[in-house]
Amino acid sequence: MISFGPVPSRRLGKSLGINNISSGKVCSYSCVYCQVGITKEFRITRGKFYNPDIIFDEVQRHLKSILEKDMPDYLTFVANGEPTLDINLGKSIEKLKAINIPIAVITNGTLLRETDVRNELQLADWVSIKVDANSEQTWKLINKPIADLSFNRHVEGLLQFASEYRGKLVTETMLVKGINDNPEILNQTSDLVKQISPSLAYLSIPTRPPAISGIKVPAEPAINEAFQIFSNKGLNIELLLGFEGTDTGFTGNVIEDILNICAVHPIREDTMMELLFKDKADIHVLNSLIRDKLIKKVCYQSNTFYIRQLNV
Ligand code: SF4
Repeated sequence: MISFGPVPSRRLGKSLGINNISSGKVCSYSCVYCQVGITKEFRITRGKFYNPDIIFDEVQRHLKSILEKDMPDYLTFVANGEPTLDINLGKSIEKLKAINIPIAVITNGTLLRETDVRNELQLADWVSIKVDANSEQTWKLINKPIADLSFNRHVEGLLQFASEYRGKLVTETMLVKGINDNPEILNQTSDLVKQISPSLAYLSIPTRPPAISGIKVPAEPAINEAFQIFSNKGLNIELLLGFEGTDTGFTGNVIEDILNICAVHPIREDTMMELLFKDKADIHVLNSLIRDKLIKKVCYQSNTFYIRQLNV
């Protein structure tokens, strides 16, 4: 249940996901648009999850089971929660470097206040940090942080990391209608992104079922305005508005493939059908996973997705 995919990534090509947070979601945020549901276990202090040897063995086993053409461009820590909460993240990255595939970490940045976390992320080739807001009010609305986190300390951590990191640093700003998509807020947010000075600033929209129903994608003019506001700050922008595609890697074990991907990544219906086909399975497998309440079917923006059903 640690590695999954490779899944097509809008940022990283083919990405073999590593979910280093065991069991249910553990995060310092409960973002309104989170695709793995609301946070039930809030945490800002690091703890032990998987042993790095187990992560390494699982990734190696996974890579051996996929076709040469599906070999990933990146091994990506993208967890069922916040990957830097794992106190062994640095050790895991160190071990995985022996595989010779670049390593990426997608983080919400809330632990970058800690020297150890910043030093461990130095080992990664590519780091994405989340920057959805630059005011305490909007930050609380969109990211719903754990209570004992201070916005100012959080921003200090982001800037400290940005000044130290030597790999490829990108930011990702999720635009949510009515929360962070008005010009005044976008101006504030782009100021912070400018200070971070990423090599690329991604602007994205929720494309998968969000944690909170009623979360909407901004209208096209608002997305365009966001692009202009960020561009006017001299930032290198890329919009992530589309679907990644259905070309998911497979291991031959359809149940593992579905459950591992679904834990961090809702699977769209067309991708699911392709995965079943590649794994030589049929719709009965899917129906039995739904019947056993391991996954569930949800509808978002006229598309059907399958997401992991936890705590049943
Ligand atoms: S989107 Fe990421 S940071 Fe936000 S709640 Fe979900 S897992 Fe945590």
